[in-house]
Amino acid sequence: ESAVSLRNVRKRYDLNEPILALDDVSLDLLRGSYTAVMGPSGSGKSTLMNVVGLLDTPTEGDVVVAGTDVSTLSEDERTDLRGEAVGFVFQTFNLMPRMSALDNVALPMVFAGVSRDDREARARHLLRRVGLGDRLDHRPSELSGGQRQRVAIARALANDPELLLADEPTGNLDSATSADVMALFDDLHAEGNTVLLVTHERAVAEHADRIVHVLDGRVEYVETLVRS
Ligand code: ADP
Ligand code: ADP
Repeated sequence: ESAVSLRNVRKRYDLNEPILALDDVSLDLLRGSYTAVMGPSGSGKSTLMNVVGLLDTPTEGDVVVAGTDVSTLSEDERTDLRGEAVGFVFQTFNLMPRMSALDNVALPMVFAGVSRDDREARARHLLRRVGLGDRLDHRPSELSGGQRQRVAIARALANDPELLLADEPTGNLDSATSADVMALFDDLHAEGNTVLLVTHERAVAEHADRIVHVLDGRVEYVETLVRS
């Protein structure tokens, strides 16, 4: 069963000249799959992430997320589905600087209407899960880059999303810290989470089970990785 399904998706931007940022993309992310997207700058990776993550809608084609045909939704319904179904991890962490790690992780649950007690209990559980059980009250500025990214990953998991979407999650981390963060993604995949990550780094992409190579808005080829 697919967590996300794209069928013949096109995304056109009309500025001075029309650009097809996505040109007839069909892609299935099966439940529990682990996929990396690679491609040169301008090839459509961000547009693909934004469409898969319900931040943007295609010009043409079908997008089904968690069994829901997104084209049938109003913008508010799409925002709600995004909050329930997609957990985002960014290169720059995007944590709230004045909030503790615990409050950062609890925040998506505020939008989802979870009670304060349940939010705190789940945020504590998730921070323990990512190895930060002793950093609950620290603000982002009091944490290392790798620790900040682990807070962001815990936050992404807050509403138990159908899909964990990571855009260059190791882009701001040194190689040892990147390896730690990728080991965490590997564990989350092993526990059944569906993971999609965009990266420029081949070594990062090779953590996934397959690499989708994009070029000029198209899926150029899909590479299946076999692990020994
Ligand atoms: P990547 O993430 O691989 O660098 P993008 O998805 O950002 O690629 O961009 C794909 C193409 O779409 C590029 O030609 C880019 O200039 C164009 N594009 C992206 N976003 C917009 C936008 N908001 N308006 C106009 N053109 C855009
Ligand atoms: P903005 O309108 O400024 O983009 P929003 O208020 O839509 O911000 O969302 C702020 C943050 O909360 C975003 O990261 C968004 O993905 C997340 N969010 C929005 N709605 C929900 C929801 N229902 N559940 C969980 N997170 C949500």
